[in-house]
Order: sequence, then structure tokens, then C-alpha cells
Amino acid sequence: MARMANGGTTRARPVFTDRIFRCGQSDYYSDEILLAGRTHTTARLRAIADAGFSGIWLHARLRELVPGRLFRSCVKGSDDRFRALASLCARTRRCGLDVWLYFTEPLGLGAGHRFWKDHPELKGHTGKAGLGGEPDASLCSSTDPVRQFLHDGFGQLFSRLPLGGAILITASEHVSNCWSNVMRPAAQYASPVDFWSRACSCPRCGPRGPVEVVCEVINLINRGARTARPDAKVVAWDWAWNMYLAPPYRRLVDGLDPEVVLMGDFERGGRARRMGRSREVEEYSLFSAGPSPRYRTAVRAFAPRRPMWAKLQVNTTHELATVPALPLLVSLYRKFRYLREAGMRGYMATWNFGCRPDTLNAFAVDRLSRGRPDRDRDRWLSRLVMEYFRLDGNGRDAAAALVGFARAGESYPIGSNCFLYFSPVNYALAYPLKLRFTGKPMGPTWIAHEHGDRLEDTAGDYTLAELVELLERLHSRWDRAAHRYGQALQSAADHRRARREVGVTRVAGATFRSTWNIYRWYLARRRRQAQRLSAADKAIVANEIENVRAALPYVEADDRLGFHEEPQCYMFDTVSMKRKLRVLGKLLQD
Ligand SMILES: [Zn+2]
Repeated sequence: MARMANGGTTRARPVFTDRIFRCGQSDYYSDEILLAGRTHTTARLRAIADAGFSGIWLHARLRELVPGRLFRSCVKGSDDRFRALASLCARTRRCGLDVWLYFTEPLGLGAGHRFWKDHPELKGHTGKAGLGGEPDASLCSSTDPVRQFLHDGFGQLFSRLPLGGAILITASEHVSNCWSNVMRPAAQYASPVDFWSRACSCPRCGPRGPVEVVCEVINLINRGARTARPDAKVVAWDWAWNMYLAPPYRRLVDGLDPEVVLMGDFERGGRARRMGRSREVEEYSLFSAGPSPRYRTAVRAFAPRRPMWAKLQVNTTHELATVPALPLLVSLYRKFRYLREAGMRGYMATWNFGCRPDTLNAFAVDRLSRGRPDRDRDRWLSRLVMEYFRLDGNGRDAAAALVGFARAGESYPIGSNCFLYFSPVNYALAYPLKLRFTGKPMGPTWIAHEHGDRLEDTAGDYTLAELVELLERLHSRWDRAAHRYGQALQSAADHRRARREVGVTRVAGATFRSTWNIYRWYLARRRRQAQRLSAADKAIVANEIENVRAALPYVEADDRLGFHEEPQCYMFDTVSMKRKLRVLGKLLQD
């Protein structure tokens, strides 16, 4: 049935059954289910439903909801957490949304955890999780108590709660099954698809191999859930399955129960050409529209017989996560045209960031999910902006500006996850230009950390000079598009939307310009640290002062800017930008 929203206009029925979003105030790294009463307010849930999504996802751990016999003695608060989840399910239902839980089961524990004293026979592969940290031990799913825990635990969960379904990652991320984290330390691999080793030290799972182990885990969960509720949906996400076998992962997918939904990463496995070379895309991307050949191959291989979803990011990606959305509507149009034509049943539209429902992107995704989008891309863009901003005229200038953002994005240093994961792009507006470099490593872009200064960490298969060249093209083309966009939106009757949208694109542009200045400053100064500033050095500083000053009023006016939802913190704000301006000002005085 068509729902009434957005001022009462009737919208066509969506062609995708499941359209999963997330509450951006939910803290992935805390006990987000227990805190849901505070974070998932009715107003926020309603905003997500009104934006056209059908569900929200939260991160869950089976043992913390349904400890069963295995975990009864070492898990605290499961009853409270269960009640909080039941209450959230009831409230989301009233807003027209389902709750989906994301799991990495059977989740491992620290190698020294007291659980292993009582159950040494359940301990499987032991190793360090992805990017370091304490050694973790897998909970071995080739043992009967763990099999039963998975099957019966999901059975209980689905019999007692009206959940939409479960979404499962079974490779990398947290330490879970015995094959999930057989990774090398990050420093030992050059390519993002070459990060696994082959050895699983579990005497049971090692000989069985990852395909058999992972299929069993997913099928146990599916059978447990469906025994309780035949309509329960279990989604197997193919994240990092290339650790185990080559795409399209046929042996693994064919081993899954037929009703298990396959969710593929839409852009991973793609290629993008930068600086004369074809580069690997191994992350979410808005700058590269996709679908990757990997996703297309999976659709051809499995979609006729198995329900399929796409995992993508509709607002932002690691490419720049501290703005509410990147205005890459051209990319969204291409992604969703493909998803419709390929007959996909659903999508998961966020990771734990990029979760603002009040963006042009979210609005566009709703339009792309219903009715039949115009086959003429530019006409579709024009109508979209006219409707969203209530523009006078024909919207053609704004549409041309949106095409300009997409063209600018062709110079984003895509293809190096080192740049995505370690560059200062998310906090460039707060990152000072320094006289002394200490060689401190750059930290992960998605976690709050003290700023490093060893920019070589971020280059991957680019040279620093190549990054400077790309960033110069990116920011200059982006700024031209943003200028045009700003002019086109002056006739908007919805002033608030237009003002905020222009601010977002301006701050994204300023961020790219800052990043360019940071890299060219480093290249110019790293071998001349003892020398006085040259005229060219001072020109970089002056350029950056002007850039940060120009961005300040937009950041002041929109509290969404600078906030990263994964760590739930501001990576830049007016305070840190003004501090940077003081540092830059001093550089020019000396
Ligand atoms: Zn094992």
C-alpha cells in the first residue's frame, strides 16, 4: 500500500522489499541495544521511516541476548538487554520499521577469558584481530555445544521477538568462527586483497576448510531462526569472503540453504583508473559507482534462484565520512538503476556511519526505490532537485553542478585503502601545517586518535606527488561545481534545505583543498624542516588560512558537519578550526 509522507504526497510502492538504514546516534562500540531507549527516540525512528526506509540495524552479540547454558555464568545483564530490544521492536513497529540485528557469530573471546577455563574444548583458532589488539580465540563451531548454542539461540531470539531478520558477517571484522581472522598484520600486505594467511590452527576446523565451516554456521543460524518463525530472514553478507575462495564464491553460496539471502558488496572487486593505472576498489565507494564485476557475476550466478541484496552506502563512505552526505547523485542513480534492473530484493544503505535521513541522498534513494526513474539521467536529476529544494525554473543548472561533482570525483585517490583508512581527510580542516615532523604513524580514519604526521602511511600504491596532483584536481573541480550548485539553489523556496546542502558541498570542497594543502606542505617541507619558510611555503599557509576561514561559517551553522558517527565524535569543529588558524597565523609571523 502506498504510504503517505513528505507533506502528504502518495508514493508508489517500493520495488525493494527490504531497505535497511540505521539510527546515526547509536554508538556501535557501546552496548547499543541497552542504550536504545535513549538513542532511538520516536522522532528519529519516524524520520527514518518517513525517508522511505523499512528497517534499522543494530549490532548484537548472541550470548549477550540469549546466553544459554554455555554463557549463563559469564554474561551479565542479558535480561535487561533483551527487554530493551523488545521495547525497541515495539516502538519501531509503531513507526513502520523492522529491527534487524547484525552478528558476527559465533563471536570469539579474549584468549585469557575465564570462559576458557570451564570450556577449554571449545577454544578454536587463536590469533590477533585485523589491525592489532589483544589475541582473541575463536569459539569453535565444529563442536556440538557451539552448534547447539547457535541453533537454539537464534531460535529463542526469533520466537520471542518480532525481528525483521539477522545480517551475518563471517569473514574478518571481529574474531568469530575459526577461519574468520586468519589475517596477517596490516604492515605485511601491499594489496587490500592479499591480507589473509592460509593457516587455521583449529584442529577441527583447519582440515574442514573455511567453506564447510562458514556454510554450517550460516545454515545453523538460518534453521534455528526459521524453526521459530518460518518468515525469519537471514542475510549472508559476502564481506571479505575473498579470504576463503575466489568470487563469486560459488561453492560457499551453493552450500547455503536456498532461502538465505545473499548480500554482496556493491563496489568491492571493482577497478578505477587513476594516474594512468587501473586500481583496485576494495571498499564502499560513492566516487566509483559500480557495480563491480564481482557483484555482477554474483547476480548472474545466483539471483535467478536466490534472493539477493546489495550492501552500499547512500550518504557517505570512508572517502569522506565527516559530512552528512556527498552530493554524488549521479553515482546513486547508476547504482539504483542497476539494482532495479537486476531484480534485487533489498539493500543495506549504511554501515555505522552515513546514517542521516535528512539528506538529498536519502530523498533520492527513496525516489529511486519507487516508481520508474526517468531513463534520462539529467532530466531525472533536474526533477529531483526541483522537488527537493522547491526550485524555480527547470533545475538544469543544479543538475549540471551534480554532474560536475561526479567528474571532480574522478580524481579522488580511490583504489588505495591506505589513503581511505589513514589519510587525514576526515579531519583535514583541523589538522595543522607543522614545522617539525616526528614520524608519528597516521591513525585509522574511523577512530578518534592523536594526529600522526607520517603521510607515507597513507600512500599505498601512489606516490605522495601523485596524491598532490589528484587532490589539486579534485578540489579545484569540486569547488567549481559547488559554486555553480550554490548559484542554482539560490531560487530554492526551501531555504533551509538549500542552505544546508550548499554548506555541505562547500565544506567537502574545503576539506579536499585542506587535504591537498597538507600533502603539498609535507612534500615541500619534510626535508627542509630547519629552514625558514620560502615564499612558496608561505603561499600554502595563506591558501589554507583562506580556506579554513571560508569554511567556518558553514560549520558553525550545521552541527552535522565534522561529526563521525562511527566513533560518535567531532573530528573537526569551529574550536579546532580556530585553533588551526592560530597555528597557521603564527607560521606567517615567524
Ligand atoms: Zn574450530
